[in-house]
Amino acid sequence: MSGEGVKKVAVIAGDGIGPEVVESALAVLQAAGAELSLIPLEIGLCRWKRTGAALADEDLETIKECDCVLLGAITTPPDPDYQSVLLRLRKALDLYANIRPFRSCDLDFIIVRENTEGLYSGLEEVGVEESRTLRVITRRGSERIAEAACDLAASRQKLTIVHKSNVLRSDRLFLQTCREVAERRGVLYDDMLVDAAAYNLVVNPQRFDVLVTTNLFGDILSDEAAGVVGSLGLCASANVGASRALFEPIHGSAPDIAGKGIANPIGAIRSAAMMMEWLGEQETARRIEAAVQRVLANGVKTPDLGGRCGTAEVTRTVAGYLEEEGGSLSEE
Ligand code: ATP
Repeated sequence: MSGEGVKKVAVIAGDGIGPEVVESALAVLQAAGAELSLIPLEIGLCRWKRTGAALADEDLETIKECDCVLLGAITTPPDPDYQSVLLRLRKALDLYANIRPFRSCDLDFIIVRENTEGLYSGLEEVGVEESRTLRVITRRGSERIAEAACDLAASRQKLTIVHKSNVLRSDRLFLQTCREVAERRGVLYDDMLVDAAAYNLVVNPQRFDVLVTTNLFGDILSDEAAGVVGSLGLCASANVGASRALFEPIHGSAPDIAGKGIANPIGAIRSAAMMMEWLGEQETARRIEAAVQRVLANGVKTPDLGGRCGTAEVTRTVAGYLEEEGGSLSEE
């Protein structure tokens, strides 16, 4: 990592709409006056097509020398033996907590998803007649994700532990460990079966504050939550480990709209704001979020939200609210 001074950010624009939304996020950071040193890296399907490797070992080394990563979206290469690049990055950097805030005019809740184990353990046997995926739940993995969720819940209302322990015996360890951590931390908590949580997210989302859950449940509930607040394109995420972090919108590479100039950049812009907060620049993060809220309130919206604006117009408007104070970004 770069230590004191200007922070180094590895920028992975990636595939599909990734480059479009990352360009927006960088323009907004510039307008907000963020002082960052950007290290662009070509990782993803584009790189795989060119070189046969979507993510090289030297990329990982470069990333480890940076303070954090800003990522657009990556399409996993169409090779059945190729492990998801994002999964590899999350594991290599041990980014165990996936923090996904969901906001709209009347909703404000956070899904904290365990990011390294569960059904995404990568331990699979694939056969013609039978295939297996091993669901791994460990005490250490459950403890540290519960701690991350309690860090957030401590300054909010309540933690909800989401599980399926009535059927999955592995979830008993997850539930029990989360309960123990919440009790030790003095955090008010309850728990809910994942199917009930899926239902309640639609019919009564106001009841939620901070949710903590395992990898696959968190993945699915996040897309549902994005639908509840209006669009996948609005939502940001932080993948955080002990000393490293990667920030990305929760949407994928959306090949159906790539290159059309209509991708909603707000998820990427909010991811950049989360990055600034993690880098200790709370005021910059707050100003970016305020500008986003103002843009949405003024109806400057992309088609996924029922609007008629393009990516560029939304970006220009957010940047316009911020740019009086200017900024300085350098590219290495
Ligand atoms: P992945 O498996 O890579 O997470 P996914 O299968 O969840 O991806 P996405 O690429 O996220 O799929 O796209 C799902 C749908 O949401 C698509 O119809 C896509 O066009 C739409 N979508 C995703 N992101 C955005 C965005 N930023 N703006 C507008 N629409 C989006």
